[in-house]
Amino acid sequence: MGGWRAVPTRAARAWHAETDGFWCMQTRNLTVVGAGITGLWQALTLARKGHRVRLLDRSQEPFGTAASAYAGAMLGPFCETEVYAPVIRDLGLTSIGLWRQTFPGTVVAGTLVIASARDRSEVDHFARLTEGYERIGGDAIARLEPDLAGRFSTGLFYAQEAHVAPLAAMQFLLEEIKRAGVNVAFGTEWRDGAAKDEMVIDCRGLGARAELADLRGVRGERLIVRTREIGLHRPVRVLHPRHSIYVVPWGDGRHMIGATVIESDDMSPITVRSALELLGMAYALHPAFGEAQIVDAGAGVRPAFADNVPKVAVRGQTIHVNGLYRHGFLLAPALAELVAAYLETGAIDNRVFVVEPS
Ligand SMILES: Cc1cc2nc3c(=O)[nH]c(=O)nc-3n(C[C@H](O)[C@H](O)[C@H](O)COP(=O)(O)OP(=O)(O)OC[C@H]3O[C@@H](n4cnc5c(N)ncnc54)[C@H](O)[C@@H]3O)c2cc1C
Repeated sequence: MGGWRAVPTRAARAWHAETDGFWCMQTRNLTVVGAGITGLWQALTLARKGHRVRLLDRSQEPFGTAASAYAGAMLGPFCETEVYAPVIRDLGLTSIGLWRQTFPGTVVAGTLVIASARDRSEVDHFARLTEGYERIGGDAIARLEPDLAGRFSTGLFYAQEAHVAPLAAMQFLLEEIKRAGVNVAFGTEWRDGAAKDEMVIDCRGLGARAELADLRGVRGERLIVRTREIGLHRPVRVLHPRHSIYVVPWGDGRHMIGATVIESDDMSPITVRSALELLGMAYALHPAFGEAQIVDAGAGVRPAFADNVPKVAVRGQTIHVNGLYRHGFLLAPALAELVAAYLETGAIDNRVFVVEPS
């Protein structure tokens, strides 16, 4: 996406000139394409700000073809800065506030990061790369997660982090979107460009690859197990030199065990190798996972740009919001606010906006 600049495009200026001027607050006709987590937050935020919104998705069933359906839905702005840019942390913290205001099922119970005694140097390394944690020992780990008592002697606790159960959260957002008056159409493939009097917010994830040249897919495999023998209260990340995993409690005994990060857009089912690695690490976290029932196994493909940072790409009457990579749940609310601000005032956040010259 090189060579882009942060100015309103000629096409957008022309269109807005015909529709009462550009940067004044007005009700716009907006089509949001894609009802994954990105499009859901865009549709809800923009409808609540008074725009006339319709939401389209090609899937017959809600979330049937969305990468979002595979997410752990951790909201981990600090843990994710282990590898990624500070913008992930900053927008992520904003998003947690928006999740809390919007979705009553948002759980703010922090994240626990641990490793076996043999791998404790992994914890030290993770600590050096991140912030927002408290270093804790075995007693504190046992207080936070009684089922892990006596099993781990050192860890990091990121108290401000949060998580949601993804399908419950998306279902909730969809209901709120309908309540906000959005016209929702599933089973509707988007092929057309924007009509003269509308703008399109394109949130098609990998479905927009033909238009976004450097968008790629990153495969993530995960398992969902159910057990009554262990109940975690927050995401637990288990560090290991080769096979770090996380376990996210979704309630009702369900735990998501994830996730692989493979440079591939292969959407086929989880491999035996990956399942063995994930289950082996979960078993090392607590042997009770050995008795858990596997209730689902699958692989989703995350849409990502080369730098793994999302982009809001403005092209005439179309705004692409894409490349949310491992951070769709973490970043979608904050990105929706940025798009709303752009539509209202022309404000451009240079950390994520790219505006194509026309
Ligand atoms: C295993 C795994 C674990 C993850 N864990 C986390 C996590 O813990 N926290 C986190 O924040 N993120 C996590 N993620 C990342 C997150 O899932 C992605 O960032 C997110 O799903 C991207 O959402 P999206 O809405 O942009 O794309 P998608 O969810 O793929 O949605 C795109 C939608 O567009 C629709 N579409 C495509 N083409 C068309 C068309 N032509 N017409 C109409 N509709 C169309 C599709 O049907 C789809 O519904 C994880 C991902 C995976 C795979």
